[in-house]
Amino acid sequence: MKNTKITLSDSEIPEYYLNISYYLSKYLKKLPEPPLNPGTKKPVGPADLSAIFPMELIKQEVSLEEKIRIPEEVRELYKLYRPTPLIRAFRLEKFLDTPAHIYYKYEGAAPTGAHKLNTAIAQAYYNKKEGVKTLATETGAGQWGSALALAANFFEMKLVVFMVRVSLDQKPFRKTVMETYGAEVFASPSEKTEFGKKILKTNPDHPGSLGIAISEALETVVKNKGYKYSLGSVLNHVLLHQTVVGLEAKKQMEKDGEYPDVIIGCVGGGSNFAGIAFPFMTDKLKAKKKVRFIGVEPSSCPSLTKGRYKYDFGDTAQMTPLLKMHTLGSDFVPSPIHAGGLRYHGMAPLISFLYNEKLMEAVAYEQNPVFQAGVDFARTEGIIPAPESNHAIKATIDEALKAKKEGKKKIILFNLSGHGLLDLNGYDKFLHKKL
Ligand SMILES: *Cc1c(COP(=O)(O)O)cnc(C)c1O
Repeated sequence: MKNTKITLSDSEIPEYYLNISYYLSKYLKKLPEPPLNPGTKKPVGPADLSAIFPMELIKQEVSLEEKIRIPEEVRELYKLYRPTPLIRAFRLEKFLDTPAHIYYKYEGAAPTGAHKLNTAIAQAYYNKKEGVKTLATETGAGQWGSALALAANFFEMKLVVFMVRVSLDQKPFRKTVMETYGAEVFASPSEKTEFGKKILKTNPDHPGSLGIAISEALETVVKNKGYKYSLGSVLNHVLLHQTVVGLEAKKQMEKDGEYPDVIIGCVGGGSNFAGIAFPFMTDKLKAKKKVRFIGVEPSSCPSLTKGRYKYDFGDTAQMTPLLKMHTLGSDFVPSPIHAGGLRYHGMAPLISFLYNEKLMEAVAYEQNPVFQAGVDFARTEGIIPAPESNHAIKATIDEALKAKKEGKKKIILFNLSGHGLLDLNGYDKFLHKKL
């Protein structure tokens, strides 16, 4: 009998994070270009970053070690929801009548509903260990804010969240989730910061953007002693923490006797894609495995497929170091699509680098076909996916249909980054043809 769910025991939670930079430097003999200080145009040093991040995360940001041990306290909290299941989408395969085998890693199983908790727990832990009392952050769809709110609560720290206004209007209950865990939440742009006030003065109805919310969180950290900043995606250490997803998935696929031909994830800042992809990408770098990787983005915020690969700011107020990445420009304000987590002007430097090196591919889709894919998935597999994850599902369905046309068996693995039970507003609009 073939298993539908491939599960692991608590003791099989990975003991280390896997560092792609080690493999890039060893096998490709090349690394992404470093972040630059915008003033001097010199690479930023640990001192530049220590005002906003704890030292351990700064070290991880530049580490070339192959493996970074996951602290026992962090693994203990991972046990609340990890290992997450790997599920064979038999019913979706049948619906598509495809010879492809489709597997998905279900990160929606986390208590806050998405993969974000994997890094939130680690970041809260390292901040706590270095004596930080309050964290500040931004959130788009609210997934990151919810995850960090829970993690900060576990480690008895305070959290201030700037939530992109349009997302807050679309998903008011996310604020309730964050407040339930004890966080303080402001709609961004807000009256709480100078930058927020400046934007509201010229446009009181500004929908907000991740770039603006990041600026507000950074301003708050710089102005308040004992505060540190936490980012939910984009940076190397965030992508590193997400590798628990792919490390587990690899073990689970092995258990099922398969190895993926194609690995798919949606890309906002790049962290859930990195999480599922990097532990397989290392095989490609090391053993020249012929696996393909596809990052999927919305047509309305196409950082990889339409953006330029250049140095740009990570936020709108231009407070961050310059990052070498695929970007639409730090002042780009994407249209208010429901996949709030994919509305970021830039892309992780590591993902941008891999794309530029042609080690991965990217595709962009319009909102309506993406929601249709989510509805097809819900009706076959049961789970209502996050609108972000629907992008990965759309690409998976297209790959499975291609396999059918070519009469090829193809093994597809995708990351179901989160569930959509707090995104029903978007589904409602789609189902009633109001998108
Ligand atoms: C935040 C989020 C994303 C996008 O962020 P990445 O860093 O690209 O993973 C995707 N899916 C869900 C469910 C999210 O919450």
